[in-house]
Amino acid sequence: MNKAVFLDRDGVVNKELGDYILRYEEFEILPELIPFLYEVRKRGFKVIIITNQAGIAKGLYDHALVDACHAFLTEELAGHGLILDEIYYCPHHPDFGECLCRKPKSLLIEKALARFDLDPSQCLMIGDKDRDVEAAEGAGVKGFRVSPNPTLEQLLACLP
Ligand SMILES: [Mg+2]
Ligand SMILES: [Zn+2]
Repeated sequence: MNKAVFLDRDGVVNKELGDYILRYEEFEILPELIPFLYEVRKRGFKVIIITNQAGIAKGLYDHALVDACHAFLTEELAGHGLILDEIYYCPHHPDFGECLCRKPKSLLIEKALARFDLDPSQCLMIGDKDRDVEAAEGAGVKGFRVSPNPTLEQLLACLP
């Protein structure tokens, strides 16, 4: 079986601006992410992002914006020799109908566990909200809550 580090997106991968990322220009990769992911890879983890993007349900932005940000992220990381294994996002919001995938629900993490043959006991999730930790725990994965836009030290402290 494999192991993975799950990452929340906004506030962990890219800079938290206090609200949704509404424009491509607002998607700013945190500089700490690159050295952190070197460590993650060195230790043999896959890297998977799990993110709520309810701004889609609210009509604030569309799938195309999310796809563009993710393509940019994937390319930037590739430029550093880093592979991003997968990005799962929930486009829903409870005001517009319940779904099974929005954190704190665990479905997206469970999907990743199955698809990548991951051992949940060897995985971990890092997020800046309680719901990130809850989603992880619901899937049997250890969750770590860090402050938004964490320091490299904070990120590294989550690794075994
Ligand atoms: Mg976040
Ligand atoms: Zn959903």
